[in-house]
Amino acid sequence: MTALDFDPAGVALPLGHYIDGARVETAEDAIPVRRPSDSAVYGHVPDGSADTVDRAVSAAARAFARSDWASRPPRDRARVLRRWADLVDADAPALARLEAVGSTRPIKDALAWDVPFTAEGIRFFAEFADKLGGEVAATRTDQLGLVIAEPYGVVGAIAPWNFPLVMASWKIAPALAAGNAVVIKPSEMTPFSLVRLAELASQAGVPPGIFNVVQGQGRTAGDALARHPGIGKVTFTGSTRTGIAVMRAAAESGPKPVTLELGGKSPQVVFGDVPDRDAVARTVFGAFTGNAGQVCVAGSRLIAHRSVADELVERMAELAKALKPGPTWDGSTTFSPIISTPQADRVDGLVRGALRAGAEAVIGGRRLAAIQDGAFYEPTILRNVAPGTEALDEEVFGPVLTVQTFEDEEEALALADHPSYGLAAGVHTADLGRAMRAVRRLKAGTVWVNRYGRTADFVIPTGGYKGSGIGKDLGRQAVEANLRHKSALVAF
Ligand code: NAD
Repeated sequence: MTALDFDPAGVALPLGHYIDGARVETAEDAIPVRRPSDSAVYGHVPDGSADTVDRAVSAAARAFARSDWASRPPRDRARVLRRWADLVDADAPALARLEAVGSTRPIKDALAWDVPFTAEGIRFFAEFADKLGGEVAATRTDQLGLVIAEPYGVVGAIAPWNFPLVMASWKIAPALAAGNAVVIKPSEMTPFSLVRLAELASQAGVPPGIFNVVQGQGRTAGDALARHPGIGKVTFTGSTRTGIAVMRAAAESGPKPVTLELGGKSPQVVFGDVPDRDAVARTVFGAFTGNAGQVCVAGSRLIAHRSVADELVERMAELAKALKPGPTWDGSTTFSPIISTPQADRVDGLVRGALRAGAEAVIGGRRLAAIQDGAFYEPTILRNVAPGTEALDEEVFGPVLTVQTFEDEEEALALADHPSYGLAAGVHTADLGRAMRAVRRLKAGTVWVNRYGRTADFVIPTGGYKGSGIGKDLGRQAVEANLRHKSALVAF
């Protein structure tokens, strides 16, 4: 027992959609929502229809037009967003339990990371509200050329399940700071915490209708949202395949800008000159086992110099023994479940395929039998994975690392470059020149040198190259992506 343990049955669920500043229960089909820790159904959400999406978008459009959210002094908007962040912090124990109970986030991580990261992200974006300006263009002096930044109106957002609050807040907060209204659809697998986030926004003073949550499946509510003509801009985080469908749906209702944060297959390149192999092993290990590998920027391909590969693998095999899988409501859990049984089966299928093609599982390679009913998968390190094997080429989204070795820098960088993904990459070396050459060469949206993974440096944008996405979450770029520019030429 730890002080963080909680009873999953005791968590109150905010049910229904959240539209126009209130929870809305509808008679739509109910989607059962399962806890990944034990596969039990712990709640239901309505499968939002096109009519419900229309109701939410109409409420948002009305609020954008009639409330003063976009027209008020921007500092007032910033103040409301900061108050919202403070309420998130104040609600942290309850919000973290709500996040943990039905997601893959152990309560310890939800409390130490997800909730504070959400609050800090909101504060970061709040600060942009009164620091965004347009331009005065160089024109004849008897004219004034203005480039005016304006919000789109209603931003339609679609979020994934892997970090439900954090990923969604990176969509909502920059859109609101820029003066937009938002309609967001959470994943149907992790639907509840966003409703609570919306209630806290209302308490902080965000006007009714400016922040709405529509529940439902991707192919119903998600599709209806992406193709709603009342949406000015679409922002999506999820798999590459769905991102393509979202882009198509968004275009079919009239062209509109789309931000896509998609999947990855990110390499971690380790050169033979690293001074502290133990530290590198810990970093590489954390980058594929954190959230059981269900991280878009998971470092799922180790590309190691021949001189260090064996030692790194041995050290990681030791580290795996210290992980403690368990339900997300157990405060001592340090290793997450897989989001669902079908997803655990998919991970297993990819691993089995690699093994059949001749790969060796140094550790893992199976479902975790010790935990009944939950969807857990053993940390898995695969060597000798044949080129062309799905486990090497496709995003697994589970705790699976492939190991490849190289002789020289050229070979390392060629292996690191994935033909279709380019979300992130890690480079470990003591040689600054080599590190900077890699930073320049790697075709990825983020390159980490001698570290791996996101920090609270929200000023650093995140987003993918190639099939990993279009545009950025975080950074100034994320706010700018929620603004369009009007040109005015005034003769006097
Ligand atoms: P997913 O693509 O299955 O679903 C994402 C969201 O899209 C969900 O809300 C889902 O209901 C919705 N959706 C599904 N089909 C839809 C459709 N046809 N139209 C509209 N919406 C639809 O992804 P997931 O399984 O929830 O999340 C995991 C994926 O997300 C991984 O590929 C991961 O790499 C990616 N991801 C990327 C980032 C990033 O920043 N690049 C961050 C987190 C997750």
